[in-house]
Amino acid sequence: MPVYFIVECGNARKALKIGRATDIQKRRRNLQTGNPAELLIIGWIVAEDEVAFEHALHQRFQHQRRGGEWFEIEPADIQPILLRAGIRGFVAKNADAFEIIGYDRDGITEFVGIWDWGDLEYEECCPFCGCCCGIHYQEVSSLHHCLNCDTLTDFEEVMF
Ligand SMILES: [Zn+2]
Repeated sequence: MPVYFIVECGNARKALKIGRATDIQKRRRNLQTGNPAELLIIGWIVAEDEVAFEHALHQRFQHQRRGGEWFEIEPADIQPILLRAGIRGFVAKNADAFEIIGYDRDGITEFVGIWDWGDLEYEECCPFCGCCCGIHYQEVSSLHHCLNCDTLTDFEEVMF
């Protein structure tokens, strides 16, 4: 059961839930019922001992606890935790992740990004599956490769 991070949007007061669920989408929908603020999944981590991991996170943010599993923390505070989880960490990717916003100095296509809240590069998080293992350049194929979803890409064909 992965440890998930769900944030409440549009409120001045930050609220972020750290919990565990087998079906995170279903959990989000259930939590959404009766909540006027939009709830968004930031990401999740698959840990070996998920109960202990969740407990450690609850302890770590104890002083920002609002009640239950809700904390007054920003998605940006969760970003390094997701990245540190590596191949066990996932960000819920942005639906428009591949929308092209321009080209950098080397002519490399720049996309909207994987994540709405943070500045994550594809070297950090795979834009296809959201895995924090990141996409690595594979010299043999001259393509970029994700260790988690096994996608090979040159980023030229991902236009939709
Ligand atoms: Zn991937």
